Amino acid sequence: METTGAETMLKSQAVMAGQREFIFPAVKALYDEPVVIAEAEGVRVRDVDGREYLDLFGGILTTSVGHCNPKVVARSQEQMARLGHTSTLYVTEPQVEAAQRLADIAPGQLSQTFFTNSGTEAIETAIHMACLHTDRTEIIALRQAYHGRSFLASNITAVSSWRPMASTFPGIKHTITPYEYRCPFKQPCDESCTDAFINDLEDVIRTTTNGRPAAFIVESIMGVGGYIVPPPRYLERAAEVIRSHGGLFISDEVQSGFGRSGGRWFAIEHAGVEPDIMVMAKGIANGMPVGATITTPDIAASWKAKTISTFGGSPVSMAAMAATLEVMVDEDVPQRAKERGGQLYSGLMELYARFRWIGEIRGMGLMQAMELVEDPDTKEPSPQKTKALLEAAKAEGLLIGVGGLHGHVIRLGPSLLITEAEMDEGLERLERACRRVEAASVG
Ligand code: PMP
Repeated sequence: METTGAETMLKSQAVMAGQREFIFPAVKALYDEPVVIAEAEGVRVRDVDGREYLDLFGGILTTSVGHCNPKVVARSQEQMARLGHTSTLYVTEPQVEAAQRLADIAPGQLSQTFFTNSGTEAIETAIHMACLHTDRTEIIALRQAYHGRSFLASNITAVSSWRPMASTFPGIKHTITPYEYRCPFKQPCDESCTDAFINDLEDVIRTTTNGRPAAFIVESIMGVGGYIVPPPRYLERAAEVIRSHGGLFISDEVQSGFGRSGGRWFAIEHAGVEPDIMVMAKGIANGMPVGATITTPDIAASWKAKTISTFGGSPVSMAAMAATLEVMVDEDVPQRAKERGGQLYSGLMELYARFRWIGEIRGMGLMQAMELVEDPDTKEPSPQKTKALLEAAKAEGLLIGVGGLHGHVIRLGPSLLITEAEMDEGLERLERACRRVEAASVG
């Protein structure tokens, strides 16, 4: 027994030593002792030491139909053995099939797609496209937004810890986050605050741009920011504002897309807005690297220069995406996310009622967050409790995520195929983790 223990310890330590030596130090894994994952299936993950975890975070909301979904695996393997690569210089059936399946579920007139390999690249494509279509260059985004890691995307991102250097793109302006729990105008936040948020958007356009912005880009539910759901009518009214100034409305559905918000395919649909451009990644291909930018044929035609992506639209990624979308349609994941999301929300609300340091439960469908505070009256953010809960959950064999400007929000986003029993189990583990945090804070 002892020998086996020593050997398995050695394995995770050896991998971690390699990580420290050969990977950029900026790549920070979660936890004091990172989980070195070896294999996974559905919502179960196993580390190299043989420990099992229930995964309520899905590799950042990405294993949308479960780790190693058999249909996605089979189709990817079959494609890899038949044709692994072509580049966009050649046409392939899997790319056309994937694009058609996406157009089938995308809102409104959105029907033409450009495929890349990440959300960041898909954001770059969307911004580029908006500038080309409008012949303008100024972009409005939300404070606390996260849109990616490239030079441009990190400048649009408005969380300082995700911006490695000073602003390098002058035409990017940020408006106030429509964050009800921390509304700067009034507590509790009400409809008059939505007016104020919208006024700020207008004001940013009138005062900090030449009045002719190319686009407003917004996450329909803010992911990294801590699942901030804009108040009713905010997105609809923001779309009206940007369009009245001749700009495009870009919806970033990288986290909130593909049924995750419950009841609809894309979270923006709850707001009744048809975006001009929509960006997707993460759950689109169950973990294969796919970024997608979809728009109308009219807007797509504005890109006149040549463009290429060697790996974008790779037959293997596209086969994985087509299989993922097929599973999603067959399983009606928007409906499943609504049902399991309701179960998750109820479970979290029970925890909210018991633990004072849970300031708010919020989200939609299978995208639910717990904002942790030192005290619910002062609402002082608590990154300490968040870290403690993250570690306690790990000790209970449960993987969850973190977000929020101060790292003070717990984020949950499991496979959209999670069963009722698995969700119950996850909630039980989370409850035990909360009790550990409570015991540590009173003890
Ligand atoms: N947009 C949003 C809303 C995201 O959450 C992310 C990733 N966290 C991105 C864009 C960038 O995606 P990627 O990491 O695939 O480049």
